[in-house]
Amino acid sequence: MNSVDAERARQLSLFRPLGYQRNSCGYCKSDDGSASYYASSVAVRPQHYEHLIQQGWRRSGTLYYKQNLRTSCCPHYTLRLEASDFRPRRDQRKAIHRWNHFVLGPEYMRKAARLCPRSREEKKFRKCNFDLQSSVHEAEYSKVKRPLDPATNRPLEPAHRFEVNLEGDSVSQAKFDLFLKYQTTVHREDVSRWTVKDFRRFLCSGIKRSPASVTSSNASEKKLGSWHQCYRLDGKLIAVAVLDLVPSGVSSVYVFYDPEYEQWEFGKLSAMREIAFAQENQYLYYYMGYYIHSCQKMRYKASFRPQYILDPESNSWDPLDGELSQKLDQRPYVSLSRDRSSTTSDDSPPGRDVNEEELSLFDIHMPGVLTLAEVKALDLDHWCLLVHGTFVHMIDLVGWESMPMDQPQSLKGIIAELAAVLGPEIVKDSAVVLFD
Ligand SMILES: [Zn+2]
Repeated sequence: MNSVDAERARQLSLFRPLGYQRNSCGYCKSDDGSASYYASSVAVRPQHYEHLIQQGWRRSGTLYYKQNLRTSCCPHYTLRLEASDFRPRRDQRKAIHRWNHFVLGPEYMRKAARLCPRSREEKKFRKCNFDLQSSVHEAEYSKVKRPLDPATNRPLEPAHRFEVNLEGDSVSQAKFDLFLKYQTTVHREDVSRWTVKDFRRFLCSGIKRSPASVTSSNASEKKLGSWHQCYRLDGKLIAVAVLDLVPSGVSSVYVFYDPEYEQWEFGKLSAMREIAFAQENQYLYYYMGYYIHSCQKMRYKASFRPQYILDPESNSWDPLDGELSQKLDQRPYVSLSRDRSSTTSDDSPPGRDVNEEELSLFDIHMPGVLTLAEVKALDLDHWCLLVHGTFVHMIDLVGWESMPMDQPQSLKGIIAELAAVLGPEIVKDSAVVLFD
């Protein structure tokens, strides 16, 4: 029975299928406007998660989901920008300068200009150019010049000691307190909404981290997995950006900050710091999560340019500006690849009077999901299954061969649906968790 060796087992991502469900929409507040396929996992490898992001998946803690953009009221489009192409707008550059001025303070800046003046060339360059990386780091304590101040005979100190560190995604009381303060003030949630356990599940668990320990990290080793970028001012935690690092990109999961610092626009500041981080560490892309065109609060994401959107059907990337943006003004669901293809396929979604949850996923025609014929072409017989701590192959299950694939309630139907949403590459390198 045990046909999967231990080394191979360590390379696999695990998925427990939860199935297709309609849910209330957090944006337009409709009762059942949003439809997604869900799976859960406590063990997804970063390279596999990267592949899932590029197919429209996203995670919230250990819950992974891919929305049906065609039948959802507020379609969630996956965003991506190429870190090296990012050109900050004036308001974005201004946010960084304002923050740096606040941290350094007028007295420091005045004295520093006298004690360690910039050369004429440097001043001219700074006036005409904006360098994202140097601007983002300018006010960090380790980068701040501290010449001897002749008035006090001590090093010149900035107004505040500002530090940013990439740390493990562990829970701490300081992080949880800050998170609660943010949720209850900025999002006006009730304090009873969150426990430490919920917080851990939401922002401190998920994809595997490497190197596993922060202290043992080899500087040349690319960091992967779930991380917290912690912002401290005068030793106090004031913001945390939760990041998923995958081989080719930095994915922004969430950012929470002390509402007392709301005026400094941490949403903007953290996004620019993360783009700079991607540039400095050879991550090609920056993923800002989902974009909902009809949601005003999300429009700021489109101001990070040039921004691209994942085509829900072809999984190719189209510029958000121009044709796509114009079409999104007119209708919620847009797939440019569909618009451009001349073939009219008979795969329209079922009408709203049909209960999708009773249908097989193969009859729903969810965009970006394999068809039944495509799943039949995969080798599901040798897909791994984790049963009570032991890996077996599907074919080892009693009666597997005679189970129907197109019936959503059958075991094979459930497994075939998971395969259809994950896609062939992930199926090859994953295992299914059904009973434990
Ligand atoms: Zn909605």
